[in-house]
Amino acid sequence: MSKPLVLVLNSGSSSLKFALVEAQTGDAVVSGIGECFGLDNACIAWKGEGIDKQEVILQSGDNHHQQAVDIIVSLIEKEHLGSDLCAVGHRVVHGGEHFSQATLIDDSVIEKIESLSSLAPLHNPSHVVGIRAAISAFPHLPQVAVFDTAFHQTMPAKAYTYAISQKLYRDFGIRRYGFHGTSHYFVSREAAKQLDKVPEQTNVITVHLGNGASVCAVKNGKSVDTSMGFTPIAGLMMGTRCGDLDPSIPEFLQKQGWTPEQIHKELNGNSGLLGVSELTSDCRGICEAAGEGHKGAQLALELFSYRVAKYIASYMVALDEVDAIVFTGGIGENSLPVRHLIMMNLRVFGYREDVEANEKARFGQPGMISQQGTPMALVIPTNEEFVIASEALRFTMQ
Ligand code: AMP
Repeated sequence: MSKPLVLVLNSGSSSLKFALVEAQTGDAVVSGIGECFGLDNACIAWKGEGIDKQEVILQSGDNHHQQAVDIIVSLIEKEHLGSDLCAVGHRVVHGGEHFSQATLIDDSVIEKIESLSSLAPLHNPSHVVGIRAAISAFPHLPQVAVFDTAFHQTMPAKAYTYAISQKLYRDFGIRRYGFHGTSHYFVSREAAKQLDKVPEQTNVITVHLGNGASVCAVKNGKSVDTSMGFTPIAGLMMGTRCGDLDPSIPEFLQKQGWTPEQIHKELNGNSGLLGVSELTSDCRGICEAAGEGHKGAQLALELFSYRVAKYIASYMVALDEVDAIVFTGGIGENSLPVRHLIMMNLRVFGYREDVEANEKARFGQPGMISQQGTPMALVIPTNEEFVIASEALRFTMQ
């Protein structure tokens, strides 16, 4: 085998993202996305090294996940990639307390992922659909589940416990689980390399800022606290999610006549950057409008950055020492104004932005954006597909 390839699948309720990833380098040979599953305009599009963008409209019906996987199979055959393909890696959002590492999928694993659907009703059932389609397409390849929650299973009880009756934890599993685990894992490992330290002695605060956003305290290479909670709505303000909120607000809205579904939609889909700016959930649009004097966008930007800085500050408590804070995700990797404001908010801890370096570390370019001799801030592009591919590769070697 020349270069082992892993098919990475991220199956959502109405979508399927995929990438054929070189497992040893993390480079994607082909990547694509199927969207609008269940609707008449369901389609799948992809592009890759030497492959121009292509799109196929799926036939109407209720098996769009399977159709999409079948098209991926034909693509692999057409590009003669089949002999290099050695495993399929599945991103799975919720592994509950059951999965603390990547796991080879068998019937009992599928059952367990399904049984965790009450904790991730929008995600886990769709993952199972994608897993089944992939098993029928690639019955001879190892299928490996990589969980968003797994990296955070090392959190101590004081970090994952909510201050509520423990009966609720025992009966319903209500606790902090945390998400974005593969990203926090990846950038904390990359940070260790840049710091020339072993992961087991590296202490960083990783800051994943994208449409979804979370912060993680990584102590000696392990997650010891993170801002997302029982679900991914908790913690930071996000593109359309509200983040931390007084828990009596949903109840208050319910008393005003709102239904639970309306409240869910409001707090998950109409809040965050979108809700505060009343303009857009997209950080680029927010920064541009703020620069042009849009008051809502200015408030959204300030609030977003202030909240991130407050979380970073609180995680100083979780770590004995901090080697670096690490920015990643679409916003963390690219947005100068957001990183600038966060660094300004952290001045009390000695953080000082290197303006020139901050300008350079963008569009996939990593870098140190703090001044020499001040506490370190790094930008490290994330690569969750690489983590999934390398985890899946491990099972081909057993
Ligand atoms: P993600 O969910 O990681 O893909 O990140 C999406 C977010 O990253 C959106 O809010 C984008 O506006 C933001 N983003 C992407 N590129 C840039 C950029 N060049 N400058 C500012 N924000 C960006």
